[in-house]
Amino acid sequence: MNQQPAFYITHLYPKEMNIYGDMGNVIAMQYRLKKLGIKPIYQPVNIGEKLPQKTDWYFIGGGQDNDQMKIVRDLQSKQSKLFQDIINGVGLLAICGGYQLLGKKFITGDGEVIPGLGLFAVETQAPGEQVKQRCIGNLVTSCLIPGLSDTKLVGFENHSGQTEFVSGVSADNQHPLGEVNSGFGNNANQEHEGCVFKNAVGTYLHGSCLPKNPDLANWFIQNQLARKSITKKIDIDDTIAKKVNMQLQSF
Ligand code: GLN
Repeated sequence: MNQQPAFYITHLYPKEMNIYGDMGNVIAMQYRLKKLGIKPIYQPVNIGEKLPQKTDWYFIGGGQDNDQMKIVRDLQSKQSKLFQDIINGVGLLAICGGYQLLGKKFITGDGEVIPGLGLFAVETQAPGEQVKQRCIGNLVTSCLIPGLSDTKLVGFENHSGQTEFVSGVSADNQHPLGEVNSGFGNNANQEHEGCVFKNAVGTYLHGSCLPKNPDLANWFIQNQLARKSITKKIDIDDTIAKKVNMQLQSF
């Protein structure tokens, strides 16, 4: 029997950075890969543990401010390999708190500047004197990833951190993940949501994100199969997921 191709999923800080069911994104990827006859290899990485040699797709979920502070130094120690992998086209999905720490800097509520990994050309101001309002609620955006322009991405958001692109709407050939149709997105200006850099996506979409946005899940799988020179038609029946996505567009 021919060997099923392997697909390496590296889950960063599953204990600390996994609020609002963000693990559902990993489960959705594992489910979809198995449906395609591909063997997902799950590689959790906790504080103090090295990144695995092989990764096709990284995931980091959201976290409360104190969880983010627990992992940020360890995350910074992983910068060079993570950055190199993303530059080489490896996929990544970062949700909310994870997204914030992968930006260029994270400014805490009392003004301390924490260097981010600088993967995404954004910076985040955490809650404090200047930022009190939380961005909470359902979020609907029109996707800006080329090839997914007809896709609406849906989910919910719950963050106080305000995220801005370092130079206007986009920078360093990066762009927002979507235009906000309803909800907040990156910040209270309610214009743009998330950030895309090569095959890496940062977003405020909890939900979990991928089960409700199958087109985005397929985008991650397609670009990684292409990078691994695996030819596979993605023919997963997403009738229910698309129905849920449609219903959530009108919340
Ligand atoms: N603690 C961060 C904030 O409040 C991120 C929250 C989250 O991951 N949902 O902005």
